[in-house]
Order: sequence, then C-alpha cells, then structure tokens
Amino acid sequence: MSKSTTDWKKTADQLDIRVQNVIDGRVIECANRTGVEKRAARNGEPIYMAPEGTAEEADKAVDSALRSFNDKRWRGKSLSERQSIIAALAGLIEENAEQLALYDCLEVGKPISHALGEVPIAAGMLRDCAHLADKFYSSFIADGSYSAHIRRKPVGVVGAIIGWNYPLIMAAHKVAPALIMGNSVILKPSENTVLSAARLAELALDAGVPEGVLNVVQGSGAIVGTRLTEHSNVDLLSFTGSTATGKTVMIAAGQSNMKRLMLECGGKSPYLVFEDCRDYMDAIAADVVATAFQNQSANCMAGSRLLVQQGIADEFLEKVISETQSFVPNDPFDPDTAFGAIMNEGHLKRVLSYVEQGQTDGATLLCGGERVRVDTNSDTQGYYMSPAVLRGMSAESALAQEEIFGPILSVMTFRDDTEAIALANNTCFGLSAYAATSDFGRSQRLSEELRAGSVYLTATANPFSAYHELAREGHRQSGFGAEYGFPGLASYTVGTTVHQWT
Ligand code: NAP
Repeated sequence: MSKSTTDWKKTADQLDIRVQNVIDGRVIECANRTGVEKRAARNGEPIYMAPEGTAEEADKAVDSALRSFNDKRWRGKSLSERQSIIAALAGLIEENAEQLALYDCLEVGKPISHALGEVPIAAGMLRDCAHLADKFYSSFIADGSYSAHIRRKPVGVVGAIIGWNYPLIMAAHKVAPALIMGNSVILKPSENTVLSAARLAELALDAGVPEGVLNVVQGSGAIVGTRLTEHSNVDLLSFTGSTATGKTVMIAAGQSNMKRLMLECGGKSPYLVFEDCRDYMDAIAADVVATAFQNQSANCMAGSRLLVQQGIADEFLEKVISETQSFVPNDPFDPDTAFGAIMNEGHLKRVLSYVEQGQTDGATLLCGGERVRVDTNSDTQGYYMSPAVLRGMSAESALAQEEIFGPILSVMTFRDDTEAIALANNTCFGLSAYAATSDFGRSQRLSEELRAGSVYLTATANPFSAYHELAREGHRQSGFGAEYGFPGLASYTVGTTVHQWT
C-alpha cells in the first residue's frame, strides 16, 4: 500500500540530513559557516546550513581523483569487473529509493511520487551504460600486412558540475558513462541540492568503487565550480546548467589547460500545433500542458513556447487553459500531487516577476501566475504558484526569448509552415522541439528545419515514453557533446589511432 502524506512526513522527520563531501573515500561533514539556511520547498522550514565549500577542498578532490586514475585502481580493472560494480551500485540506489527520493523532494519541491519515479531512471542509466560498454566498438582497417584501429581510453579526471532540477538523475547521467569508461570523477552538485550526490558517492563505495574514484565536493559555483573549471588536472569538464554559466565555463577551460567540454545548457523549446490535428485537440492540449509544466517547469526540455496555428488557436487555447487549471499546486508529500512547490523563495519571486513584466510589456494573462498558499501543517509557508499561461507577447520579448525555468507557458500564433518554423527557431537555444501534425510530409520537413537536438513529432499525442538508447545533444546555445548511447560513452573517452605493420 502506498504511503500517505502523514507517513511521508514521519519518514522525513527520521531522515539523516547531513551536508557532506566524499573525498578520497572519506565521508566528511562540510563546514557550514556561510550562515545561509536551506529551506524545504514544501513548507519553508530550515533543513540545513549551506556548505561553505573551499577551493582547497576542490583541489583535494582533484588530487584524489588524479591519484586514483594514475595508479589504475579503477581503470585497471577489467570491464566485466567495472560492469558488475556499477550494476551493484544501481541495485543499492534502488534499495535506498525512499531516502534518495525524499532528499530531492525536500530540496527541489518535486512531488514525492515523481521523485520516487526518478530513482529507477537513475539506476537504469547506470545499468544501460554498463550494458552498452562491452558492445562499444572501434574503427578497424586491415590491408595486407598493415592494420590500424582506434583504441578508446578514458579521458582521465572528469569534473562534473550539475544544476538543481533533477539532482539524482543528473548525477547518475554524469557518473554512469564516466565511471564505466574508466575515468575518475569529481562531482559538484548545485549548492541548492546537496544531499543525493553525496549519498550516491557513499553507495558507490559500498558497491565496490575504489576510494578516490568518485569524489563529491560541495560548495558554490563561484568558488568550487570555478576552481574545477580552471584546474589544470581536470581533463574533461562535463557541465549541466544555464547557458550563461556554460559560457563562463568555456572561458575558464580555454584559459587553463584547454580541457575538453561537454555542455548541457538551457532551452526555450517550442511546441507547434497545426490545424490538421483538430480531431485530437483534447489529447494534444493535455500533452502540451504536461510538457510545459513537468517538474514545476524546472526542466531544460520544457515546451515553454506554444505556437498554435491561427485557425484553431482560440478553441485549442480553451482546452489548454482548462488543462492547466487542473495542475493545482499541492504539498509534494501528498502521493496524489502532480504539481509541487518551487525550489526556493528567490526562484519563486523571479518567476512571478516574468508574469508581471510580461503584462507590462503587452501580453495577456489567461490563467494562473499567482503565489498561492498550500496547507502543510507548518508554521512557515512553502513556495507555490499557480501555473501561468500568457498570450500576445512580441516574438522578441523576454517571455518569448528567455529561459524562465518556472511554470509559465508563452503562447503565440502562426499562419503557415514558414512562419511556424521561423518563430520556432527564433531563440538562441536549440535543445528540443515538439510538434503535433497529422501530415507526414510536414513532420519530415520539420525534423529537417527545426534547429533542435531532439524533435518530438506526434499526430495524436498517444502517451508513450521515448527511449534513451539513442544519443542526443544540444544545438546552438543549448550546448554540445553527446549523451546517451554509444556516442554518449565516446564523450567520456579519447582515441589513440594505432597503425601496425607486420
Ligand atoms: P546554473 O546556475 O548555471 O548552475 C549550474 C551549476 O553550475 C551549479 O552547480 C552551479 O553552482 C555551478 N556554477 C555556477 N557558476 C559557476 C561558475 N562560474 N563556474 C563553474 N560552475 C558554476 O544552473 P541551475 O540554475 O543550477 O540549473 C538550471 C539550468 O540547467 C537551466 O538553464 C537548465 O536548462 C539547465 N539544464 C540543462 C540540461 C540539459 O540536459 N541541457 C539538463 C538540466 C538542466 P551553484 O548553484 O552551487 O552556485
């Protein structure tokens, strides 16, 4: 039987909450002299003091990773040994599902049912990488007495810096391909979400990953993040975060040791809806709203711009509004909650300011966009807002151009395919794009013309999860570097081309 809200509160009260670094196999409590309190998104109650995080700690973590890489305690193991350790780690993640899900739920504000659903996704990423690694192939040429092949090797010391929106999943997305290919890692989570990364590193030690191979160092981007990006012993910096920070990371990499980069940055993804799917408007409206507001829209791939063809715009928008109003903010501990809290007070205020500024700039608010109170039986308030739909903004406005990372759907209309594609491509981003059309030829043209790393095309919005065995990468200012599949594993390797004559 699934747990009730009261059960989850009791479990959370017994939770072990410590802010920790994991360096050289030792789990160390962080200094917390910052005086900055981290508060639970659901009720605003303090849960810990933000870690201080020093450049010296970052250095120690890099030294530890470098030692472990040089003495081959991990990369020297056979691939099958690494595979079984990584599979064991996946099992431990699943055994600790409630603890890991509660950490992300408290820190981010995501519904507990969603946080629980993310645990097998993280474990699955580790299993997928372990499963693919022994099928990872290399190019080979043979001609008479001559042969050549490309030997793929781990890059070395990998710095992994991640954002706050999917703490456990993003940590697994970095750690899984990096470790299975034999690298040593320093993971820096966001200072807003520190708990699950350190627990993951502790579980990795339990699973048999040698000391020093997976280090976690807490602290701010300004101090610890900068140190990792500038460090000359970091060979690859794999970053997930905003486009603005991604650009800073590029400068630091260029000015230090020209380290390799993988950048998974922001998005402002369009969802195009064409008149030819008039018969499926209910299902498509539901999909548009789910794509826009999943994870309270703290989602790099959120379909935050709805572009709808003029002939169906009014009728379709009525359905979108009614669907949006069914996303009622509620306590993330309630197992029936689909739309939870915003991560912190500062982020909530920032998102609400876009609603206000958007209206000043001429857009019309169709629904939501207000701070709301949710009763969590606490003396303090959490951070909640009703998801907003706005229409009539100019194509160059902040609502149409900027990644808000909060529950605001910006709606614009188009006349024909040419205008639809121009509007869709009219941002600096290129992460994902969604389109609903029943015209096969049009969907083929869209997949060619839309400047996005992932394009999702549907005729009827039948719900079906996408597979992640295929690689993906961002375009334009959404970043670069493949993740998932064989190209995703290759991102964590370097090649040596070996020429041989007998
Ligand atoms: P962010 O502010 O850019 O921070 C991301 C990470 O970078 C955090 O750990 C941050 O540390 C660190 N950081 C900040 N300044 C740094 C610097 N100068 N040098 C090195 N590291 C630095 O992004 P966020 O608000 O946490 O995350 C949201 C963003 O991530 C959105 O733009 C979203 O689209 C993007 N994202 C992209 C993907 C993808 O696959 N493309 C997936 C998820 C999220 P502190 O926060 O601790 O200071």
